[in-house]
Amino acid sequence: MTKRWGDKRYYSLDYYVKKHCGEKLYKIALNGGMSCPNRDGLLGDRGCIFCSAGGSGDFASSPALSVHEQIVEGKKLVARKYTGGSYIAYFQAYTNTYAPVTYLRPLFMAAIKEPDIKILSIATRPDCLGEEVLSLLSELNKIKPVWVELGLQTIHEGTANFIRRGYPLAVFDRAVDALHKADIDIIVHTILSLPHETREDMQKTITYLNTKPIQGIKLQLLHVLKGTDLEIHYRNGDFTLPTMDEYFSILSGCLTHLREDIVVHRLTGDAPKHLLVAPLWTADKRQVLNKMNHYLKEHDIWQGKEWFPS
Ligand code: SF4
Repeated sequence: MTKRWGDKRYYSLDYYVKKHCGEKLYKIALNGGMSCPNRDGLLGDRGCIFCSAGGSGDFASSPALSVHEQIVEGKKLVARKYTGGSYIAYFQAYTNTYAPVTYLRPLFMAAIKEPDIKILSIATRPDCLGEEVLSLLSELNKIKPVWVELGLQTIHEGTANFIRRGYPLAVFDRAVDALHKADIDIIVHTILSLPHETREDMQKTITYLNTKPIQGIKLQLLHVLKGTDLEIHYRNGDFTLPTMDEYFSILSGCLTHLREDIVVHRLTGDAPKHLLVAPLWTADKRQVLNKMNHYLKEHDIWQGKEWFPS
């Protein structure tokens, strides 16, 4: 294996950011005060089966604060571990394009105009990217780079129905095409070890994504959080979660099939400890990442090892 990604066996976000921005950037999680069609009654009112009450944005600040105030708070929170001065404004909680552009424009502009913010990253659903929103994102992308993170989780419709994702794969495909046309970077959020998915199912999701013009991926291990419907299934014994070694093996299968130029934004998960029901071994993220990097080395695994473009 060549040393193409520094000391990592995959194309890490850190490596990408240092290469393209010349320095490490730290993410500040923001809450734009929006809801989500899976929660407000448009498509459903109980959310995706795994989603916490905080809309998967449990590290974000309070939406009662202005964007500027949230950024100031976020900087204070990371001050002990980050001494640099450049950040990614990450609208993480709920669905961050689920509002009219008259609401979205001042919100995103407030983040993008902060001198220390180098990238605007927006987590959303592919069914919440209408023409006006796309045009706004395209406009912002000319000021500073905009990343759009799409919550796909899986390409398999059976699993998508079970987790109550609320849109078919064709909607994701259309959103990817539209974002690509607008020259906006796309990051796809996937979840590994969803109930009843096999290793082959997960690898199929990866090989499908290899055919798409995406720039980044999050490989997130399924977490069971307190108060979710997934917790009920878990406590009923309807599915099991992998041990750490089993997860490393699953992850290796996905990484080896992943296209080499796709940046890996996440390899485990990041749940607040007070909400985490399982798997509890994920709680010490630093330790998990260290062990995982060791595992990849020991088993001579690297991203794209089994990816053979036609
Ligand atoms: S995961 Fe996203 S789309 Fe699903 S309920 Fe939570 S905020 Fe809504």
